[in-house]
Amino acid sequence: MLEADHKRKTAELRSALVSWYRENKRDLPWRKNRRPYSVWVSEVMLQQTQVETVKPYFERFMKRFPTPADLARASEDEVLAEWSGLGYYRRARQLHAGVKEVVERYGGEVPEDPDERRSLPSVGPYTAGAIGSLAFGKEEAIVDGNVARVLSRLHFVEAPLYSAASQKALWKHAAALVEGAIASGAKPLEVNEGLMELGALVCRPKSPACEKCPWNTACEAHQRGQADALPKRKPKKKKKVLERHAWLVIKASASGDTVYLQKAKEGLFVGLWNVPLFEDKPPDAFLRVGKVEHILTHRRLVISVWRSQHSTDLFPGDEGRWVPVDQITGDKKRSRELGISSLTKKILKLLETPELPLG
Ligand code: SF4
Repeated sequence: MLEADHKRKTAELRSALVSWYRENKRDLPWRKNRRPYSVWVSEVMLQQTQVETVKPYFERFMKRFPTPADLARASEDEVLAEWSGLGYYRRARQLHAGVKEVVERYGGEVPEDPDERRSLPSVGPYTAGAIGSLAFGKEEAIVDGNVARVLSRLHFVEAPLYSAASQKALWKHAAALVEGAIASGAKPLEVNEGLMELGALVCRPKSPACEKCPWNTACEAHQRGQADALPKRKPKKKKKVLERHAWLVIKASASGDTVYLQKAKEGLFVGLWNVPLFEDKPPDAFLRVGKVEHILTHRRLVISVWRSQHSTDLFPGDEGRWVPVDQITGDKKRSRELGISSLTKKILKLLETPELPLG
């Protein structure tokens, strides 16, 4: 296609997308305020997590840490506690590290310069582009899962998603759409959020609603009747199974049960408070409660849960702490006072419906 034709076609696509976005955009909490910091927090939370799940977490988090300085000052425990239940805790730790650097190096202001933004720890091309376009109004591209799906279909990109070839093609298509937005009378955020919104509401992973799509006459996958076949994915690797034993020690008292938790210094749940986990079975004083399965990104954990009411002599020198069981399984507000792994919550829930009578 001639360059001039290509530009004209891209401008038509952009214009149709922006008109559609203006009529169909959702009212989401993080769209009320386009500060670089709040865009950053929302985009990190939205990675691998549904919009509806993120909404209350985002609002609470911003209330608790309204500025980069507030977040930078907070301890890791406080940050993880506020994140507790959202999963993928590495995201929270990385956000915390990045924001600390913003405070130390840039006086608490997220840098407007794209290179400085991209050099922050944990800020990849997607987050940098989201902050650049949504908060600073710059013509910077973004490609997340939704955008990748829409653009793969629009341009019939057959290389498997997340392969180098597809990433190169998708970022190029995304950049072509957003570059020139301002001259055409649109905001860069309308292009980028329009793409994300189209992926979330119309160009869904299964059975896209092509009849409602502003691009249906231009979309190659739709025209070929192959929208459902794209994007292609590499075959999934089987998750590695890890078997562990949870040694639950519970002290009963008139004011309620307390459980002994340890803070993980490394491994899968680093920084979070957990029921002690071991490769070995516990001593005979423990009775078996049941099994819990927990799925992580690359692993499937199979946990045999054991319970004892004996003391914690078993964990000498350990800096554990006793936590009321109902703080973990009951009232949600209280459970946010400590960063407790979702696996630990699942294990304690098992006590409410054990497989065997408890000793
Ligand atoms: Fe997606 Fe269908 Fe629109 Fe193509 S026409 S971008 S497949 S919703």
